[in-house]
Amino acid sequence: MPIRLALAWFHLLALGVGLGGVWGRARALHDALREPVDERAIKRALIADTWWGIAAVTWLVTGVWRLTAGTEKSTAYYLSNYAFNAKMGMFVAILALEAWPMMTLIRWRMGKREPNTRDAGRIEVISYVECALVVGMVFAAVSMARGFGVPRPTSAATLTDSLTALGDSADSPATVASKTAATPAPLPTPTSSDLQLLSSELAMPLAGVDPAKLQSNFNALRGGNRRHEALDIMAPRRTPVMSAAAGRVLKLFTSRAGGLMVYAADSAERFILMYAHLDGYAPGLHDGQPLSRGQLIGYVGFTGNASPKAPHLHFAIARSDDVRRWSKGTPVDPLPLLQAAHR
Ligand SMILES: [Zn+2]
Repeated sequence: MPIRLALAWFHLLALGVGLGGVWGRARALHDALREPVDERAIKRALIADTWWGIAAVTWLVTGVWRLTAGTEKSTAYYLSNYAFNAKMGMFVAILALEAWPMMTLIRWRMGKREPNTRDAGRIEVISYVECALVVGMVFAAVSMARGFGVPRPTSAATLTDSLTALGDSADSPATVASKTAATPAPLPTPTSSDLQLLSSELAMPLAGVDPAKLQSNFNALRGGNRRHEALDIMAPRRTPVMSAAAGRVLKLFTSRAGGLMVYAADSAERFILMYAHLDGYAPGLHDGQPLSRGQLIGYVGFTGNASPKAPHLHFAIARSDDVRRWSKGTPVDPLPLLQAAHR
């Protein structure tokens, strides 16, 4: 089982355990509220509290792991996401609320303090509030998974930047990066695990084309010293172009060189996939639209600087630090990834 699947599984499993635990704690404490305190109900509350604690540790470990190890999306993606920040806010609120009950229950367990109805009543109320916050966290997490909470992408300035850069001669994200390097931010280096992850999710964007029979033209020179940094796949005009990976549309863009283009992110939001020279887009395709692998996005054409005699798909992949900057990234040769994906 891939580690990211295991992490997601434990993270979600902790939800059932934790919600059950904190709810059960509240119910048991409610039952304990009589004079003298019902010992058996207190015991049940402490057992439920243990499960609540196990869930909290599981959440913390799997959550921090997923956030920092980049098994899903990049750390930058999470930290800029409103839904993620709402989720973290509620998590911090739970931690703050839990401090006093935790200490009190530890004292009960160690026999340093007698269980009493006043404390039990307070912890009951706090537990219900925590339940509500956990439910709120689920809402935020689901919103995030459905693509909500992503800040509005392009400010006018960055869009103009990429417009001027792309309108010129460049048609791969990387070339743009080197041109707009007013403040030269270092481009990310794709690691082999990044590439493996992408390759495992990749499919050919054109049906019926065997990648084993294609030749790489990644390093071919185009117009002077500029490297091609993409894969050209020859195909008749109007051949359907499919999304090579699950993810979302970042930007439908038109440039003199690339013609009609689709910039898309993979589902991990680590790579930008770009399709150029399209004859047209799939009906209704729009910025931000979620994509599944194999979904129709457009048709092969020769818009931009492609020859009408040689309609083809210009397919580029770039490693990105932040897919909101959809025109920037480190170019990666798509062909070996496609070939590995098909093996
Ligand atoms: Zn090309």
